[in-house]
Parts: sequence; C-alpha cells; structure tokens
Amino acid sequence: MSGKYEMVVGLEVHVQLKTRTKAFCGCSADFGAPPNMNTCPVCLALPGALPVLNEHAVELAVRAALGLGCKVNPISVFARKNYFYPDLPKGYQISQFDQPLATGGSVMIGKTEKGTDIQIGITRLHMEEDAGKSIHDRYPGEIAIDLNRSGVPLIEIVSEPDIRTPAGAGAYLRTLKQILQYLDVSDVSMEEGSLRVDANISVRPPGQVKLGTKTEVKNMNSFSAVEKALAAEYTRQCALLDSGGRVEQQTLLWDGARDTVRPSRTKEGSHDYRYFEEPDLRPLMLDAKWIEHLGSELPELPDERKKRLTEEYGLSTVEVEQLTAHSDLAEYFEGVARASADGKASYNWVMGEVQAALRASGEEISRFRVRPADLAQMLNLVRDGTVSHTAAKTVFAKMVETGKPAAQVAADEGLLQVGDEGAIATWIEEVLQEHPEEATRYLGGEKKLQGVLVGFVMKKSKGRADPKRVNQLLSTRGG
Ligand SMILES: [Zn+2]
Repeated sequence: MSGKYEMVVGLEVHVQLKTRTKAFCGCSADFGAPPNMNTCPVCLALPGALPVLNEHAVELAVRAALGLGCKVNPISVFARKNYFYPDLPKGYQISQFDQPLATGGSVMIGKTEKGTDIQIGITRLHMEEDAGKSIHDRYPGEIAIDLNRSGVPLIEIVSEPDIRTPAGAGAYLRTLKQILQYLDVSDVSMEEGSLRVDANISVRPPGQVKLGTKTEVKNMNSFSAVEKALAAEYTRQCALLDSGGRVEQQTLLWDGARDTVRPSRTKEGSHDYRYFEEPDLRPLMLDAKWIEHLGSELPELPDERKKRLTEEYGLSTVEVEQLTAHSDLAEYFEGVARASADGKASYNWVMGEVQAALRASGEEISRFRVRPADLAQMLNLVRDGTVSHTAAKTVFAKMVETGKPAAQVAADEGLLQVGDEGAIATWIEEVLQEHPEEATRYLGGEKKLQGVLVGFVMKKSKGRADPKRVNQLLSTRGG
C-alpha cells in the first residue's frame, strides 16, 4: 500500500437465512433442487399472488442482529426496490429501505499494535428476498432462468467504511462468518452462494476527513478474491489520481482469471431503484419482550468462548483460535476436555488424530463416529496406564473403524498395557539376545543406549509394555 493514499472500504454482505421455506411463500428454500422446481405463484410473480412473511426468517434475522450488537427496531418497513432483470419476475425485490430491521452494531476483528480493539461498525442490517439465477452456460447464446432462489430470505449486513486494508476486509469477513455460524442463522457457504460480498472502496490522502469517490466491486467468490480485488482497485484508483485523473463512481466486476476489475455492463450502480413502501405487507412490528427473549437465548459467541476456553483449559491463544474456528469443533473439544479433565491432551487429540480422520473420510465433526465421551474414555485409559501412548493410536483407529468403545477395542485387540514384571522381563531378555552388540555396550555402562533398547522392547510388545516399567527394569540390568 502506498503511503500517499489511505484505502477506505465498506462491505455489504448478503447472507441467506437457514429457513426451511422462502421469505414470502411456502416453497422450499433448499439449494440444489432441479431448476424451477421450488416455485409457486408467489415467487413466480403470477398476477394476484400475495406475499405472507415467514416468521422464522424474522426470528433468524433478529438473532443475527442481536449477535452483531445491533439495535433491533420495534418497527421496520418492507419496500419495493424496482429494477428490471430477467431473473426478477416481479420487476422489483422486496427489501427494506429507510426503516431497516436493525442498526448500529459492530464486529471486533483484532487488536492494534498498542493492544486496542479494532472494531468495524455495522451501519444496518435489513431483511430482503433473493432474486432468481441467470444461467449463462447452459444453452449457447441464450440465458436460462432458474427461479428456485427467487424469494429465498436474506439479510444484508452493511458495514461502516471502517476497513483500511485488504487484510482487514478478510478479517472482518472471516469474523462475521464465524459469528453467523455460531448463531446458527445461515450455512454461510460462499460456494453455495449463501454468503455474498460487495465492496465499496475509495481512496483519500491520509488525514483527510472527506471521503473520496467510491466504486463498487462485485462478483468475488471467496474471501481471498475480495482481498485481491480490493488491492487491485486500490492500485487502479491511486494510479488514476496520480496521473491527474478522477475516480468515476461505477460498478466494477472482479475478474479472478485476470486478477483485475472491469466495468459492469449493466451499470447497476447508476440505477434509481424508485423505492416505495411495499403495499402488500404491513410494517413489521416486533414485540419488545419477544426481542428480549431471543436475546436471552443467544449462544456463546466466538470471543466469549475463546476467553473461557483459555481460562478453563489453560490453552494458548493459537490453540484456542484453532479450536473455536467452528462451533461444532469447539463443542466436540469441550465434550472431550470436560469428560477427561485434560485440556491439553484433548487439544492434541482433537487437532491431531480426530482432524486427520475427518480429513480422510470427508465427514463433518458433528457426525463423527467417535463421540467426545468415547475419546475421553480413551484418554482416561492412557492416563491410568491401561493403554500405552503408542497403542492409543491403534485403539483410536479401530474406534473410528468400528465405533466400539475404547476399553472394548483395547481388550479385543490385545492392546491393554502390560505392567506385569514377568512379561516385561521376558521381552527384555529376548531383546538383549536379539541385539547382542547394543546389549554388550549397554550392560558395559553405555547408558545412552537405554532409549534404543526401550524402543526395541516397545516394538516387541506391540506397544503394550508399560514404558515406565521397561525403563525401571532395564536400569536394574544396566547397573
Ligand atoms: Zn413460492
């Protein structure tokens, strides 16, 4: 980034709410059905069809607003946003305009070098419906229309122009996504389009209060694409100003293949949407007690959880960041940690073996066969010496494969740790005979060979020998 200009960015994030049905009709809101199957007179905009507001969508929108620290307005108003586009059968989108559902929240995205919080303000959060989808690659030279998405409930979260760097935009988006995921209001999947981002960007000399002319960048399909697009557009605007030119207010599309932005042909930015109050829907009036009740039911959010896990389980900041990346992962970890009373071992197993098993099978942790209580049982067996550290990995692999409890797997597979002196002494004798050179040197006083010999014994016992006992018995021989 050049020191000559400061980057000023605000983001508009569209989030699909996790409802069973659409915002204003009873059609399924599921992703992935065959084209135009999830449609009815309301979402096809047939004459005479009237919208009926989905209460669950309102509930999720309010939850999201409260989780982001917004004030939920007791009265908000639906409005028609008029524009013409083939995938918008009504010719307008039901949205909210001058009286949105919620205003004034914030998201903390990290700390400055001096240790103060970096907050990104949220201007507003409003409800709206999605448009259909134009499909450009199905029939050559023609556009196909799929209206399954028409009328699916969305919230739009508009940030203040508080973001100063591409990395800051990435951090804001990742934090926002994590909070929405914890709130369980959306699938927040960029691949399935349930989270979409538009960026407003301008530049100005540092210290100048007045904002420069902004452009809007669209069409970014990942958070890293947002970061790249902002960097590219910043460079373009700076070069323009340096050469004596002026930034023109316009809508730009990110071209990921060429790492560049290009003007949008539809000139969406210059539209006058001729907003007016939606005559088919009454103002949305929310009961203060109901809002309060939803507020009291909010789950623990990422920041609080990070603090608590750090304190309760004595984990480092990095470890806690990893564990809280997804609420399901954090919950799984806590299940193990609580039942085993060992935060550190639980962390090691969850981020190690459990993640490896999930990567191998492509499963989600919420459906993982080894439940937290099962893994905790295994950790307890390791701690009390019933199963050795070496054998634990084999036991775990069998648990993943069979779904049986740890104690049973260890018994079935002959992996219970052997602390019996006679058995261990026999293994030691065998190892000493099989490795005469090491044996002679060790017995002659070369103490550092003890580790090697313990390794041989552990291998011979297939990991069952209690290594502490092996060490003790070998020491008495090494005399
Ligand atoms: Zn419908």
